[in-house]
Amino acid sequence: MTIRLRPHHLLCLLTYVGKGYSPAFTSNYDVIAGRLAQGEDVLIVAGPDDICAPLLGEEDAHCWRASVRVRDSLAARDLRRLMPGPVRAGTTITLGPELLRAMRGAFAAGKTRSACLGCQWSDLCSAVAASDYRGVVIP
Ligand code: SF4
Repeated sequence: MTIRLRPHHLLCLLTYVGKGYSPAFTSNYDVIAGRLAQGEDVLIVAGPDDICAPLLGEEDAHCWRASVRVRDSLAARDLRRLMPGPVRAGTTITLGPELLRAMRGAFAAGKTRSACLGCQWSDLCSAVAASDYRGVVIP
């Protein structure tokens, strides 16, 4: 089994502390985070993914917006230097402890934050990174 993720969610999962858009969103995210913590692989997809799923029934779900696709492109570009290959749809990634550590280091150093510009969660994500990732669900 793999977890389907759009590129910018590779950043969001680094700082996930159980907060999100709605109880349905966070309970689904908790399950995904648990599976990732168990070592399940990620399949990169274009557009809405397994984390977006609970929001897709809403009218005008933001997950379909062009601005969110731009976030994906920026995240894919920024993460490229940390990954063994390009971050694009169809790629499978194993998020082992070493890679997660490198991704968190780059995120805390501001090297992979282009995708976060204008995101409503940016202050929270910055605070989590600044706290050395205290309370994150994926260790
Ligand atoms: S600021 Fe937004 S896009 Fe960036 S990691 Fe946090 S939730 Fe994801």
